[in-house]
Amino acid sequence: MDKNRLKEEIVKLKKQKNAVILAHYYQNDDIQQIADIRGDSLALAIEASRLDADIIVFCGVRFMAETAKVVSPSKKVLLPVMDADCPLADMATKEAVLKKKEELGDVVVVSYVNTNVDVKTVSDICCTSANAVNVVKSLKEKRVLFVPDRNLGEFVKENVKDKEVFLWDGYCPTHEEFKIEQLNELKKAYPEARIAVHPESPKAVRDAADFVGSTSGIIDYVSKTDGDDFIIGTEEGILYELRLNNPTKNFHVIGGSAVCFNMKKITLESLYESLRDEKHQIILDPETIELAKKPIERMISIKRN
Ligand code: SF4
Repeated sequence: MDKNRLKEEIVKLKKQKNAVILAHYYQNDDIQQIADIRGDSLALAIEASRLDADIIVFCGVRFMAETAKVVSPSKKVLLPVMDADCPLADMATKEAVLKKKEELGDVVVVSYVNTNVDVKTVSDICCTSANAVNVVKSLKEKRVLFVPDRNLGEFVKENVKDKEVFLWDGYCPTHEEFKIEQLNELKKAYPEARIAVHPESPKAVRDAADFVGSTSGIIDYVSKTDGDDFIIGTEEGILYELRLNNPTKNFHVIGGSAVCFNMKKITLESLYESLRDEKHQIILDPETIELAKKPIERMISIKRN
């Protein structure tokens, strides 16, 4: 089937099945274009909990679809590609988190939403890159184990001075690749450019930026900031939304390109087949849902930055 036909069929199936397509900003352009809702992980988690649909097709990576299932257990949640996993999430396991917690003694476990569901079941509260600082600030406890992204954890530590934050040694392979030398080269080529980067980026890159924030934060920053050129430090799928909102501005991704291969596994074909055959369903047992729901709901109750 060609692209246009695939899109028509997806729209038809969506209506027939009362389905909604959610897409993360890092998805392929075709997927973002056909989605009912585009967003970052926090916005999509909130939307998933409010939607009046029988089926949610989650175009993102596994932990996001799991989060949607946890907040909407009565809905059928589909992940179009089985192995769309997040390498960062896979860097922490429930057993390892429990072991670390025991070693550290009295700590609150704050887990980035980029964790697999088993880690959420042993977390006190979740956060996203949009609200991580606020979430940690909101805690009355002083000692925090931040799991699993060490760069975001370090960013939180820099912004919350009254807590002792212990970092997990995980990282996002896509953001970890950004180098200060690449950023400096772009700065030389575009001296007037504003620099906006994601907090999963290494410290040297964050320190050189005009703005550090989540994908939705970067989107807001670019829309509200004057200028012709912007240097962007996050996965390049964000360019779809940036160009849509700012057709006259130019964007330059650090290093020339930044791709999360797992995010890009979902195509129009796999989305169509997933919706047609109602595969691959996220199945979680009720106990897991109950335990994972608490830290996610606690996060949702905290306001965004
Ligand atoms: S961009 Fe990084 S954190 Fe996001 S899904 Fe890909 S590997 Fe995971």
